[in-house]
Amino acid sequence: MSKIMLVTGGGRGIGAAVAKLAARRGYAVGVNYHSNADAARAVVEEIVRGGGRAVALQADVSQEDQVLRMYGELDQQLGRIDALVNNAGILEQQMRVDQMSADRLLRVLSTNVIGAFLCAREAVRRMSTRHGGQGGAIVNVSSAAARLGSPNEYVDYAASKGAMDTMTIGLSKEVAPEGIRVNGVRPGTIYTDMHASGGEPGRVDRLKGVIPLRRGGTVEEVAGAVMWLFSDEAGYTSGSFIEVSGGN
Ligand code: NAD
Repeated sequence: MSKIMLVTGGGRGIGAAVAKLAARRGYAVGVNYHSNADAARAVVEEIVRGGGRAVALQADVSQEDQVLRMYGELDQQLGRIDALVNNAGILEQQMRVDQMSADRLLRVLSTNVIGAFLCAREAVRRMSTRHGGQGGAIVNVSSAAARLGSPNEYVDYAASKGAMDTMTIGLSKEVAPEGIRVNGVRPGTIYTDMHASGGEPGRVDRLKGVIPLRRGGTVEEVAGAVMWLFSDEAGYTSGSFIEVSGGN
C-alpha cells in the first residue's frame, strides 16, 4: 500500500515539484489548490500518466470549514494521511512597514500561519497513535525570511514565517511521543511565480549578488530537501529546519 501525502498549494511552484517527486517516490498525493483547478489537474494528470495516484482537492486553507471538507475528501478518495506538506503561502506586494495596514498582516497570517495550523491539526487527528493512527510526518515550508528578514519589503511575511517556525518546534515536541515528526524547510530565493505576485518578476536575478552561491534555487532543489525529511534516513530528525537558501 502506498503512503498518502497531502501537499497544500500543490498546483504550481514548489508545491507542484514536491507533489511530482513524492509520486515518483511512491506516494499517493492529494494536490490541494485554492482557485486554479486547471493547474492542479495538470499536476494530477502528469502524475497519473507516470503511473502514480493523485487527486486534486480544492480548499482555501485559511478557512476551517474548507479544510475539514478537504480532509474528508482525502480520507474518502485516497485514505488516511501519512505525510503533510504545509506549502500554501502568500507574499503580497513589496511595501515598507510605514505604509502597511494591520489588515494586510492579518491576511498573510491567515494563510501562512492559520492555514498551516488547521492542516497540521487535521493531520495530527488522523496520524496520532493517541487517536489510533499509525504516526506520520509533517513538513512546513517556511522561508529564509524568518531568519533574515528583507529590507523595505515584507515584515508581514517574515513575521508569518517566524510564527510558522515556532509552531514547527512546539508541535514537534507535542506530537513526537505520538509517532509524528514535524520539520521545516527554509527556501531562500527560488525561481517561482511568487516573486511576480510580490510585484517584481525579476526579483530573483536582482538578489543574486547577496546569495553566496550566486544564483536563485530551483523548485526541485526544495522538493529534494522536503522529501528527505519524510525519508527513513530522517527518522530521528524532528523540530529541525533545512536551509535551502544558497548559503544564506
Ligand atoms: P507560488 O505562489 O507559486 O505557490 C504558492 C501556492 O499556494 C499557490 O499554488 C497558491 O495558489 C497557493 N495558495 C495561496 N494561498 C492559498 C490558500 N489560502 N489556500 C490554498 N492554497 C493557497 O509560490 P512558491 O514559491 O511555490 O511558494 C510555495 C511556498 O514556499 C510558500 O509557502 C512560500 O512562502 C515558500 N517560499 C517561497 C520562496 C521563493 O523564493 N519562491 C522562498 C521562501 C519560501
